[in-house]
Amino acid sequence: MAAGGPGPHLAGGRLTIDLAALAWNYRFLAQRSAPAQAAAVVKADAYGLGLAPAARTLWQAGCRRFFVALPHEGLALRAVLPEAEIFVFNGLFGAEAAAAYRRGRLIPVLNGQSDLSVWEAHGWDAPDRPRPCALHVETGMNRLGMTGEELRALATENALTQALSPLLILSHLACADTPDHPMNRRQCESFQALRAVFPEIESSLANSAGIFLGGDFLCDLTRPGIALFGAMPVGGMENPLRPVVTAEARISQIKRLRAGETASYGAAPLARDTIVAVAAVGYADGYLRAASGSGVPLRKVVPGAAGFIHGKEAPVIGRVTMDLTLFDVTALGPDAVAVGDHIELFGPNMPIERVAEATGTIAYELLTAIGHRYHREYLGDGL
Ligand SMILES: *Cc1c(COP(=O)(O)O)cnc(C)c1O
Repeated sequence: MAAGGPGPHLAGGRLTIDLAALAWNYRFLAQRSAPAQAAAVVKADAYGLGLAPAARTLWQAGCRRFFVALPHEGLALRAVLPEAEIFVFNGLFGAEAAAAYRRGRLIPVLNGQSDLSVWEAHGWDAPDRPRPCALHVETGMNRLGMTGEELRALATENALTQALSPLLILSHLACADTPDHPMNRRQCESFQALRAVFPEIESSLANSAGIFLGGDFLCDLTRPGIALFGAMPVGGMENPLRPVVTAEARISQIKRLRAGETASYGAAPLARDTIVAVAAVGYADGYLRAASGSGVPLRKVVPGAAGFIHGKEAPVIGRVTMDLTLFDVTALGPDAVAVGDHIELFGPNMPIERVAEATGTIAYELLTAIGHRYHREYLGDGL
């Protein structure tokens, strides 16, 4: 078992990252993607969980193609996986960035004219082909990506010059988390028409949620990210994935407060006598302030998040602060919770999707906000 972050006796929280579950999720998603291949998206430090252990595990599970967002993430990944094919979504910022791509044999995703110029002028050449790259075409996300016209112009020009070697054409779905949204079909049809502009190369459309749309959304290569890490990207479906991350906070103190006393910033008055467990994790650890509990002016309607301890749920009470969060453990009875116990913030007993909903956000944000103050334990490293 590998470890990371501050030592277990020094940290306010601990993260347990189950690499066997990550490998299982990859294999599951690869099966769901067949006959397409499944890549892995490991941007933002593998969604906050640690790039190196996640990438090694995915490689061992059979993944050979990876996507990151930025060139420095690509270089970090190259150091871990010398033989992987590494694509970078959005970071061909200029000649100096291109030098990093050369150094790391990173393949840029070209998103428009400026990327095309940079790569033609500063890209690297593989032994059998010049300037390998992927092409990102817009179908409705309207974030990055070249227009259909730009794509056709590139095809015409490149047929003459052969300056670039596109390996993959991709687009990104805007509404895949809502399977019956009409946008999905529209984007899929636009993409099928555009991929025909480069008929001889591979195509990729589906992120995690897109894999669950199946059929012609799968194309040749899928790009799952969040689902690898156990969160279900599609609403209203049972989650077939294994939970990968458990986040827990150490209980630092227990307080017995009377009705009418107040809790945390803003002095939320307590409606009844309350046993409060003070946990050593706060918004600086990605336990967002929007998870604050009832009785708090921040949230008048939604009750806020809850933790899980000794078989029961414990709601957040009062405002989440930078380093500390209060939980109402009254329902567990007196003396049920002790200093030094850990309360689960999310994990197998408290689904991250539920915490995200109570926080007014999505699992993606909770994972990528985790930060570096947790003690980390990686289960199944080197499996
Ligand atoms: C982040 C990202 C993905 C992965 O998305 P998930 O919803 O996490 O599966 C795929 N493609 C692109 C272009 C992305 O930016």
